[in-house]
Amino acid sequence: MPGRSTVTVHADRHVHPDPAVAPPIYQTAAFSAADGEAFAHGATEPRGKGFYTRFGNPNHAQVAAVLAELEGTEAAMVTASGMAAITTAVLALVSAGDHVIGQKSTYGGTASVLLNLLPRLGVSTTLVDQRDTEAFERAVTPQTRLILVETPSNPLLHITDLRAVADLARAHGIITLADNTFATPLNQRPAEFSIDVVWHSATKYLNGHTDVSAGALAGPAEILDRIWDTSLLTGATLGPIDAWLLLRGLRTLPLRMTRHNLNGLALAQALAEHPAVSQVNYPGLGSHPQHKLAASQMSGFGGVLSAEFTGGFEAADAFLGHLRYFQRSASLGGIESLAVHPASMWRGMLSDEQITDAVPPGLVRLAAGTEDTADLIADTLTAADAVLTART
Ligand SMILES: *Cc1c(COP(=O)(O)O)cnc(C)c1O
Repeated sequence: MPGRSTVTVHADRHVHPDPAVAPPIYQTAAFSAADGEAFAHGATEPRGKGFYTRFGNPNHAQVAAVLAELEGTEAAMVTASGMAAITTAVLALVSAGDHVIGQKSTYGGTASVLLNLLPRLGVSTTLVDQRDTEAFERAVTPQTRLILVETPSNPLLHITDLRAVADLARAHGIITLADNTFATPLNQRPAEFSIDVVWHSATKYLNGHTDVSAGALAGPAEILDRIWDTSLLTGATLGPIDAWLLLRGLRTLPLRMTRHNLNGLALAQALAEHPAVSQVNYPGLGSHPQHKLAASQMSGFGGVLSAEFTGGFEAADAFLGHLRYFQRSASLGGIESLAVHPASMWRGMLSDEQITDAVPPGLVRLAAGTEDTADLIADTLTAADAVLTART
């Protein structure tokens, strides 16, 4: 078995062989067929690459080949965004009358699918505290079809016991989906713990350069075929250029994650000591209440952490205003360090009550980029000092 850095460079070579060392961009909406039989085959081949770009394109198939290899799954597919991936998957796998279990701490868009979209379609949902494995078991009903987990979760960095949730789901014939955006397959491979389908906001670490919106799903071919069928109807197709950029970003994922892991841990350690901060959430810290579980299923802890400021909403907002290298932005996972105030950002996706439950007002989410560690530490400590000075 080649290593992960080799896989990211070579796993797509068989997909669309071409003498060009850098794969060409197939900037075409459609492909021609040699005869009627080939045409009929293209029209029905799941996750194909030579019929019509909404059905699949060589640039999609190249990304999918690399991602499936990295996640250790049979197959993978790409979508136009992370939200396209989860919404398409959920629409493919549930019907009116079914029940879905999700987490209380989860990305705002996923929370809105669970709290707003699915109930409108007659699908009931239960949100549980992911730190309590038995809460998943208690939430299971005879109608439960899916369990959606996210670990570490956005923005509280809570951990889900992947093996325990996958095992209980299998015992009840329930499909599991894990959002692996924060960890990436470099730090955590949910399929190794029997999770069925892994999904990503490929906008984040997989692409890594904050210049593409994309999503991805990886899992058994049989389940992905069902999701692909629905994707023909939702039509959230990734453009060939964006798929090409995503592959280009993916090639350096192992290099980038090494630095993100380093910077994330260093920042978490530095901020945990600061008097303006009451709590730092980062699974790599020995003080994280679930550190042992995190270390048992992750090989690195990523670049994202969150910090709660003792001065609440105003202090969190003031901290962001004093940062120099961290830009105030909603994204994460790129080479640039970004910081956000989740209580403000989640407003587009959830109501005020839904936010208060999930996101403390004094919480700041930091996404460490690949800059020099010392510069990022100096930047955050200077900004935290300024928050304290302003209050005295
Ligand atoms: C950003 C994000 C998403 C949504 O992905 P988009 O590409 O923005 O649609 C889903 N899950 C997590 C954890 C995210 O950070």
